[in-house]
Amino acid sequence: MLKVVKFGGSSVAGADQFRKVRDIILSDPSRRVVVISAAGKRDPRDHKLTDLLYLCHAHLTYGFPADDILSAIRTRFASIRDDLGLSWRVEDDFDAFASSLSRDTSVDELVSRGEYFTSRLMAEYLGYTFVDAADCVFFNYEGQFDRERTDPAIRDALEKNGRIVIPGFYGRSPTGKIKVMSRGGSDISGALAAAAVDADVYENWTDVSGILMADPKIVADPKPIAKITFAELRELAYMGASVLHEDSILPVKEKGIPLNIRNTNCPEDPGTVIVENAGEEAEQDRPITGIAGRRNFTVLTVRKRGMTSSFDLREVLEITDRYHAAVEHITLGLDSFALVIASSALESCLYDLIADIQKECAPDEVNVQDGIALVAAVGRKMSSRPGTSGRLFQALGQEGLNIRTIAQGADELSIIVGVDNSDFEKTIRVLYDGFTG
Ligand code: ASP
Repeated sequence: MLKVVKFGGSSVAGADQFRKVRDIILSDPSRRVVVISAAGKRDPRDHKLTDLLYLCHAHLTYGFPADDILSAIRTRFASIRDDLGLSWRVEDDFDAFASSLSRDTSVDELVSRGEYFTSRLMAEYLGYTFVDAADCVFFNYEGQFDRERTDPAIRDALEKNGRIVIPGFYGRSPTGKIKVMSRGGSDISGALAAAAVDADVYENWTDVSGILMADPKIVADPKPIAKITFAELRELAYMGASVLHEDSILPVKEKGIPLNIRNTNCPEDPGTVIVENAGEEAEQDRPITGIAGRRNFTVLTVRKRGMTSSFDLREVLEITDRYHAAVEHITLGLDSFALVIASSALESCLYDLIADIQKECAPDEVNVQDGIALVAAVGRKMSSRPGTSGRLFQALGQEGLNIRTIAQGADELSIIVGVDNSDFEKTIRVLYDGFTG
């Protein structure tokens, strides 16, 4: 058994968090590849090291002294070292780095040092070998991951050393320079490592006990999702849930490696497992996996008596394409159809777009309704449970929620309802209560 474990910034924010990480790793000998983010916030008023390093770069660029910022970062590393009783003279390496900085230092090189120093401290604390991401994560000239170089490099490092710590978030470009990923990129580093070594599981340790069934800012204390498929996760993410970014799960998804999201502060919680195939499902399981939604859509309804819907629809879609207004959903009636489009995409072109529809399709009426929110109930089990949509609409009806539009994904993975923006939160709460109570 081999596990790749990634710890996010809040899991390595200070010495106490380092202790929790060590307990977690040492409690399971299969946790042999460790990917580490830069130290994050210790409390809500604190700053992430990555943010401080970006700030430092801005100071250098504009010719302002960055000494205070650098000294705060240096102190942070030294105090973790002291608290944990480690021996590495981190100040020496940090000072060498700080004195090398100039206006021309690349931002990627600079911000990558958050992960670099945090990981070196963690490697010493665990007694694992530090393997620099610059030596095992490679990009190609197009800026994409060079898996042909990355995979064997990570595999070799593991084979040679047995237990390794790799800093997340950065790698090396073909020109030899450090290159960082998008923010939160350590998730990707972890997934790359898991795919490279064919891990049995990729554990992503954070500060919540898995993916929650609904946004905790809307639903009080939502339950975590025990198991979710990659396809469901994609639907939830698309509908606005703040879950792992698709890029970050691709390497493990491709290899069928399960991804387990866990909580460093509650290691006994099982968290959420993300799998390709959910396998056998218990009958009593909830039909809905999660609920998510987005506000601010516009519904464009086109009416034309006796129209041949598909022909007129095609013409209208050509027009929306022309204005780069992506259509999220389509409902088709006998003499009408309605398109749901993000209002932001129509902001600068709505009137031209309607004028074109009027000119080219000669409809009886084009109706515009904005201020619509879309809420999706996502669940792989819905397709095999007759009555789920009935329950869903009944729950909304009982609460007097007016449904403006309805769409069901073709693969029956989600049911999406459009409601007024002002009913957005209530709709999510009603659905949550209706399916979890
Ligand atoms: N430290 C980087 C960030 O704050 C990357 C990461 O944490 O995954 O975005």
